[in-house]
Amino acid sequence: MDEAVLEETRLDDSKKYDIVVKMLEDRGVTLKEIAELTLFLQKDYVPELSIKTCIEHVERVVMKREVQNAILTGLELDILTEKGHISEPLRSMLMDDWGLYGIDEVLALAIVNVYGSIGFTNFGYVDKLKPGIIKKLDDAGKSKDVCNTFLDDIVGAIAAAAASSIAHRYA
Ligand code: MG
Repeated sequence: MDEAVLEETRLDDSKKYDIVVKMLEDRGVTLKEIAELTLFLQKDYVPELSIKTCIEHVERVVMKREVQNAILTGLELDILTEKGHISEPLRSMLMDDWGLYGIDEVLALAIVNVYGSIGFTNFGYVDKLKPGIIKKLDDAGKSKDVCNTFLDDIVGAIAAAAASSIAHRYA
């Protein structure tokens, strides 16, 4: 990227939106799969809720600058880890998705934070239950050349934030 493009991208959140959506897709996650988690979280509370509405709320979450920055940072760390560009001892902790590392969850909280306290409960629930795409990412991350350490938490956090956005709307 040349300087002018870089400057424009840094400032323009709509351009960053396209970049982070593509980045998620390249890592094996579509916004629809995230929306399916959101539907799973909210369907008991909002019976008329459709996947279309969930996708709209997921899109709204991903438009937020703080969310985009968390996605850019977390996914970059996963990718650099896979490429072997991270020093030890961090590399092994990330590659093995070491349970006591904890910073993957902390980064994801920046996403959940955007919609307040319901988001925290939803995020904890998704993290524990590992439904749908989260389980898929978690299993894929067990392979010795794949690092999904940040990705699974980021996906769970976006779904949880979208669920909170829906809860605020229908409450
Ligand atoms: Mg993780």
